[in-house]
Amino acid sequence: MIVGVPKEIAEGEQRVALVPDAIKALKEAGLESVVESGAGLAAGFDDAAYEAVGARIEADANAVLAADIVVKVQPPQKRADGSDELEGLRKGGVLVSFLRPLDEPGLAARLAQQGVTAFSMELMPRITRAQSMDALSSQATIAGYRAVLLAAASLPKIFPMLVTAAGTLQPARVFVIGAGVAGLQAIATARRLGAVVEAYDTRPAVREQVESIGARFVELDLDTGDSEDAGGYAKAQTEEFYQRQRQELGKRLANQDVVITTALVPGQRAPLLIDEDAVKGMRTGSVIVDLAAEKGGNCACTVPEQETVAHGVHIIPGTNLPSEIPANASQMYAKNLTTFLKHLAPEGELVLDLGDEITSGAMLAHEGAIANERVRAMVESEGTG
Ligand code: NAD
Repeated sequence: MIVGVPKEIAEGEQRVALVPDAIKALKEAGLESVVESGAGLAAGFDDAAYEAVGARIEADANAVLAADIVVKVQPPQKRADGSDELEGLRKGGVLVSFLRPLDEPGLAARLAQQGVTAFSMELMPRITRAQSMDALSSQATIAGYRAVLLAAASLPKIFPMLVTAAGTLQPARVFVIGAGVAGLQAIATARRLGAVVEAYDTRPAVREQVESIGARFVELDLDTGDSEDAGGYAKAQTEEFYQRQRQELGKRLANQDVVITTALVPGQRAPLLIDEDAVKGMRTGSVIVDLAAEKGGNCACTVPEQETVAHGVHIIPGTNLPSEIPANASQMYAKNLTTFLKHLAPEGELVLDLGDEITSGAMLAHEGAIANERVRAMVESEGTG
């Protein structure tokens, strides 16, 4: 079995699906690799580093896409010349990648039509056995860290408290909304830089985690009731709830220097948690980093893919932040992928056990059909399949 690693062509994407160490691990598990020339360069891995661990370097992208198993970071893209990466995938071949199944269900239909067996990293079940294959978590960890660095670089203040001969500087105040994987890493990073950190989440279960890394958990006067689904994700709340939440949160933001928002609900637009009035109420020069920007944003003033200043507040959309730390993001993603590939091909040959929770859970397309029920229903209701 040959694993193909094409160079990512999505704009701004600097990650690579497999780093040289991962290629080595796959080789030991009986899987050979072919890597497109330059695929790892932006992440700090040149062709020689791949060759040194036994990968074959290939200049032709389509030759890489024709491998038995293709691993990618971004879903297949259209090229500048009008051709499409998807067309290069082999009928009966396997694709493992982020595939945005709930945002772009039409892609699942096209993959099925092409006869590709596709696994979407977003669909990986969040069970203990699959923890080392959980790419949403590994990439969210990097995003949470990066968000704090962006905020620190924009804020006209420093994070730590300083007592100097030139006077005392108060520590920055950071508020993190949504204390999932990205939020917890943001809290830890802001604490390491010396900020005073508070955090809030609708899932009361996270209070202990927030407190254990040195932040204060903020309670809002809201009934969150049954806020968590079986997979540990937040459940969507009613619009009335979100309205009250915006009011309550607005009161807390006025004295913060930095607000980092990470609130997401799977398969839905990100909840709107900061309205324009709340932004108006914030201090001039304060910073909001909105990690939910790609899903519509947690802040009403967020402009996707563009830093803006609204009412004196610097607003940074946190779009594809893992790509801004490409070496470590790729290293972690590659570990997720190799663990999953070894799960699919334990003896170096693919054995797709459809009765297995991990294999069937992550499967998006197989044998000409969409394998995921929720995505299939979306395609059928959109009439795109
Ligand atoms: P996510 O990216 O979907 O959401 C980020 C956070 O936003 C979540 O903590 C969510 O509760 C919060 N949120 C949603 N709506 C909100 C609102 N209106 N106000 C405030 N906060 C809101 O989630 P995630 O970080 O990928 O994962 C969430 C949790 O899932 C983790 O903290 C963990 O407990 C669990 N998890 C389990 C496993 C596993 O068992 N293998 C793996 C990964 C995550």
